[in-house]
Amino acid sequence: MKPPSRTPRWRKDSSPKRTAFTLLELLVVIAIIGVLVSLLLPSLSRVKIRARDAQCLSNYKQIGLSFKYFVDEHGSFPPNRVRELDPTSQTWIVKSVTATIGGVNPAPFPYNAQYCQATNRPLFSYQGNPRIFQCPMDKGHRGDIDWPLPTNFSVKPSAWEQAGCSYRYNARLEGPRDPSRSPPLPPLTLLSNSGTIARKLESWVIQPERYILMHEPPAAPLSKRISLTRAIPFWTQWHRNRGRIDFRDPTIAPTMFVSPILFVDGHAAVHDFSQSVMRDPYYPYEETKDWIWYQPRQ
Ligand SMILES: [Zn+2]
Repeated sequence: MKPPSRTPRWRKDSSPKRTAFTLLELLVVIAIIGVLVSLLLPSLSRVKIRARDAQCLSNYKQIGLSFKYFVDEHGSFPPNRVRELDPTSQTWIVKSVTATIGGVNPAPFPYNAQYCQATNRPLFSYQGNPRIFQCPMDKGHRGDIDWPLPTNFSVKPSAWEQAGCSYRYNARLEGPRDPSRSPPLPPLTLLSNSGTIARKLESWVIQPERYILMHEPPAAPLSKRISLTRAIPFWTQWHRNRGRIDFRDPTIAPTMFVSPILFVDGHAAVHDFSQSVMRDPYYPYEETKDWIWYQPRQ
């Protein structure tokens, strides 16, 4: 009697010629997967971008509360400068807090020579978790430490790591003056306390829903002192950045100067400052329907 075949039943009907995929079939499958991935990737990165925007908006809402507590207690908005006792010389030094209104201690020297300690920052007592001052897209900027730089100096990868704060208090409009401009810049605005919110009463702000309270560097130019008499401008992009983040000439940069903003009324929103920055890189502070940077003197 013939022994039963060992070939499994399912093999009996299959054609011997069809045991594997052909190269062509494999290529077609790979191509289809490639198309699907390329369709999916942009929407994934859009989700990522929205999540990071949302993180900053959430941070700003909490920072807005810290400002409210400060104003309730002091009757006015925080100053843009504070005095700090220098531990080495035991003398009082005035330091700007526009880049450090809250957050954590700056990195060691030379950063701590420029930025004040966390406990001396105006919002320190009101901030709760200091991480609300960290932007997830913080890529730093080269305009941070002024000349003269120490020989072993290297720029840290984020403003958070340098200063202990990613966001900027809109209390000192920055940007190098352009001597070739005609007409000249409006007086008493740039690099000045006049017209800004520092130490102003709550009632001073006419349109709190449009007045910028906190922003990120992409919204405005930064300057870096490179000698006793010369400062060079930088424009930075964070939230839509691909590749480079610092530009000496914003008109050749990709048009993505996007920054989440905290307004005086406590609401936060993401705004695109590209048009303002491109139109007048040295002075992107003209008001639009969405925002006001400063109020002219009355
Ligand atoms: Zn951010």
